[in-house]
Amino acid sequence: MTDVRVLVIEDEEPLADSIKYNLELEGYGVDVAHGGNAGLRKFKEGDPSLVLLDVMLPEISGLDLCRMFRATSDVPIIMITARDSEADKVAGLELGADDYVTKPFSMRELLARVRANLRRHGMKEDFDFESEVLSGGPVSMDVARHEVEVAGEAVALRPREFELLATFLRNRGLLMTRDRLITDVWGIDYFGDTKTLDVHIKRIRKKIEPDPKKPQYLVTVRGLGYKFVDD
Ligand code: CA
Repeated sequence: MTDVRVLVIEDEEPLADSIKYNLELEGYGVDVAHGGNAGLRKFKEGDPSLVLLDVMLPEISGLDLCRMFRATSDVPIIMITARDSEADKVAGLELGADDYVTKPFSMRELLARVRANLRRHGMKEDFDFESEVLSGGPVSMDVARHEVEVAGEAVALRPREFELLATFLRNRGLLMTRDRLITDVWGIDYFGDTKTLDVHIKRIRKKIEPDPKKPQYLVTVRGLGYKFVDD
């Protein structure tokens, strides 16, 4: 793990110091930025393995930074949001963040999230050796090439969206409970609420459904979860 570098962008210096200390105990390299401008510079210079990104930052907001990072990079991004700011969580995920933690959080929880997101990202890269083609409805996925087509047109999916859709296609016609999907895609040690899942389902629907508001393939099973149907 010694080659893993985490970029922490957080303007509360005691919190940033505490995060840095705990990540270093785990053997990660850590860069800290206390404002948006420094965060952007360190992101470009440092090529981090993962970014911890506070939403409320001086100079450039965390949400704007998330959008900028995502334009050029697939790096795992965990947003740090204030308590009770549901809008920030959803906005961050919509902009391509992979996960979030809500202040106040325990270092144990933060470290679990960091580990899970790094592992998830690494697994995605290892996937390139696996040959698997999946299809259902208008969708076809080449897992080995990490390519998706919808009705013959190439569509870009974020890593978690890709895994989620692949999970549905491997289990076509079967009810996938929310717990099962979260465990399969986010890992058994996921601490977050299920809003993350709903945001990802919404994003996938936008990309595969003729009318995302009236899904015909990725359908909701009320109170239980979702399933992929194609007839
Ligand atoms: Ca802040």
